[in-house]
Amino acid sequence: MPSLSHVEATARGALITVESYQVDLDVTGSDERFRSHTTISFRATPGAETFVEVSPARLRAVRLNGRDLDPGTLVDNRLALAGLAEANTLVVEAEMAYSNTGEGLHRFVDPADGETYLYATSFLDNAQRVFAAFDQPDLKAPVTLAVTAPAEWAVAANGELAANPRPGRWEFAPTAPLAPYLVTLIAGPWHVRRAEHDGVPLGLWCRRSLAEHLDADAEEILTVTRQCLDRFHELFAERYPFGKYDQAFVPEFNAGAMENPGLVTFRDDLVFRSAVTDTQREQRATTIAHEMAHMWFGDLVTMRWWDDLWLNESFAEYLGTRVTAEASRFGRAWTTFALRRKGWGYAADQRPSTHPVAPEEVADSALALLNFDGISYAKGASVLRQLVAWVGDEAFLAGLNAHFAAHRFGNATLADLLGALSAASGRDLSGWAGRWLRRAQVNTLRAEVAVDADGRYAQAAIVQTAPATHPVLRPHRIGVDRYDADGTVTRVEVDLDPDADGGRTVLAGLVGQPAARLLLPNAGDLTFAKIRLDPASADAVPLVLPTVTDPLARALLWGEALDAATDGERPVAGLVGLVDAALPGETEVVIVEDVLRSVRPLVDRYLDPLAREAALLRLAGAGERMLATAGAGGSRQLAAARALIDATTDVDLLTGWLAGRGVPDGLAVDTELRWSLLGRLVVLGAAGEAEIAAEAAADLSAAGAERAARCRAALPDPAAKAAAWEIVVRNTELSGRLVGAVAEGFWQPDQAELTGPYVARYFAEMPVAWPRRTAWVAESVAHLAFPRYAVAQPTRDLAAALLARDDLPAGLRRVVTDLDDDLRRALVARTAVAAAAA
Ligand SMILES: [Zn+2]
Repeated sequence: MPSLSHVEATARGALITVESYQVDLDVTGSDERFRSHTTISFRATPGAETFVEVSPARLRAVRLNGRDLDPGTLVDNRLALAGLAEANTLVVEAEMAYSNTGEGLHRFVDPADGETYLYATSFLDNAQRVFAAFDQPDLKAPVTLAVTAPAEWAVAANGELAANPRPGRWEFAPTAPLAPYLVTLIAGPWHVRRAEHDGVPLGLWCRRSLAEHLDADAEEILTVTRQCLDRFHELFAERYPFGKYDQAFVPEFNAGAMENPGLVTFRDDLVFRSAVTDTQREQRATTIAHEMAHMWFGDLVTMRWWDDLWLNESFAEYLGTRVTAEASRFGRAWTTFALRRKGWGYAADQRPSTHPVAPEEVADSALALLNFDGISYAKGASVLRQLVAWVGDEAFLAGLNAHFAAHRFGNATLADLLGALSAASGRDLSGWAGRWLRRAQVNTLRAEVAVDADGRYAQAAIVQTAPATHPVLRPHRIGVDRYDADGTVTRVEVDLDPDADGGRTVLAGLVGQPAARLLLPNAGDLTFAKIRLDPASADAVPLVLPTVTDPLARALLWGEALDAATDGERPVAGLVGLVDAALPGETEVVIVEDVLRSVRPLVDRYLDPLAREAALLRLAGAGERMLATAGAGGSRQLAAARALIDATTDVDLLTGWLAGRGVPDGLAVDTELRWSLLGRLVVLGAAGEAEIAAEAAADLSAAGAERAARCRAALPDPAAKAAAWEIVVRNTELSGRLVGAVAEGFWQPDQAELTGPYVARYFAEMPVAWPRRTAWVAESVAHLAFPRYAVAQPTRDLAAALLARDDLPAGLRRVVTDLDDDLRRALVARTAVAAAAA
């Protein structure tokens, strides 16, 4: 279907004003389709022409101002509307298809008990799969929804339930004005927990088969919800604007969550059915806070067009992390942000597809979907944190509150927000925004020192550089910490001048002082920049790291080491040595988890098989030592166990744990850990289809089906690979999530010979597979199925040949361009390390 362009949206936005939607859905029919009846009231320039979007399985009838229109005039997803009056009423009756891709009205049959669940995702332009809509973010209108569904079901929507006139009929009150992409509902035999806080009714929803797990965590989820609500009410002058606040955990969801006003939908993997680490609990809390931040940023004030997507996501990410850190028990949320989220942002910003946080133009809604990446989220949030350091928190919040007041229930642009922040801070932000928001790529801040014969700094400076492709230096307000041998830590604050000669800012306060053991640039992590330690500091890391008491500083030191290895500046083997020496002593579980998560792809992609085997041994050894020192039960033990399972080749240990032998005290070998053990055994060739089938039979859940699919795709067996590939490139019957699980399991670094023929097949077959799927699923599968371990020039040649075609979908072009660039970096790093060793 053609995607709405910015030009079309602007033209339509000038012609019409939508006054209301009345949407009536009937989901009592077949398993394939539901009935949708939409009445739209809108005003228009008399005599004008425009179009409405609707993507039906069958369009039954259309009436505009009482006149019947021919349903046959629907072209793709657009219905032309001519001869408009000043006040118009459009009625569209259609049969719509349920989806299995998490878009539109998703229909899911729970394998655990056979119950059926529905939920709607209208984002990004999928409202038209549920009801006829002028599907653009700046045509907001109140939505009045009614649903006919089986009488024994429960139904919830954005608005409050107004009436239940008869069994099987739910009528909801009109909402506040909503952008079409924010309209949602859930229907099915949902389990619900209700509560209330500060006058706001709260609800938690999940499938019945997850009820016991939701109930076990309900107090924690509600506590976080209450704390966040209170904190947002302290920060913002405008109270929560959408009445009730329901949070539904829904199956086979694509993203982490979606900020539908009054009814946020979350992926139901966040209802934990097995033991999890505190990091996972923190991540759930941050997601809750992130979605709540959207109630103001995105929902109350909506971007005018998708080019200001960052106004939604950067703010939600910044405020979500901040409020989690300030209001919940997860006070170290900025440490998680530093390593995990910013790592995602740095990676995205260094790829060929990088774009400014606020691009000048996003031509259509299909291209907008590609910008939901580490730049719009993590870099944007990080840039906002830098802005707060620059203008001060009071001015920042005053600007936000003025922005909300000026545009409540309406739309706004970057210029509007900058105007409000400039007025509140008394500073002209145009130069700052030009460098930070309108220009792509990341700066490197390198500490440069010279020490004299007395051991004092003769020179000390931070040198800012930019890649040749994006030669822009930026103003940074940063801290620099000096770590001394006696354990003292001293911070100097410094403003880096973007126009300084050679990007060099002298640390005047340090010159003449005794040299520190280690200097850490960007201490406090206030800016978005790659950092490099001076050589003496880099050498001191193994010694200093265990003595650093601030977890955020440790995260930054680990981040620096990971980044230098990724860039090929230091060998991966050295990084693995640091992990082996220092990680078992790390007390912050999120650092343990994220360091291992980042080291592993480097081990799998940067090292030759022999070096890789040696590195895995060291990682397994580190896991073992962590496990030996971890207390019984708790996050640290679980993180250590997972680290050991992922790296070990000890089949006896793995089969023993599965059978309940030799399990460390306090470690629960529960459903998820069993799948991890089995997954590793499958890769090692020590378990097969029989074991997978037995495990799947014992776990009849949706998650169990995904784990089993991933295990089957990972089997070191030609027939299993052929079957898995067939699913990856052809299958549209399975849900998007299941196909993704197969793609995820397919490539294994240990199976180069077996999967060799599929490297070329990826490049030949993915363009054919792409159009069979919706954009979201196609992109996710193309990403997961990329031959990421085939780090070799022939793979790059195949990528180049594919990219030379001019008929590639934009999304596939972007996936291949970026992942090919990852191969390029891995090859460069391998060459650099080989040259250094020679
Ligand atoms: Zn968001």
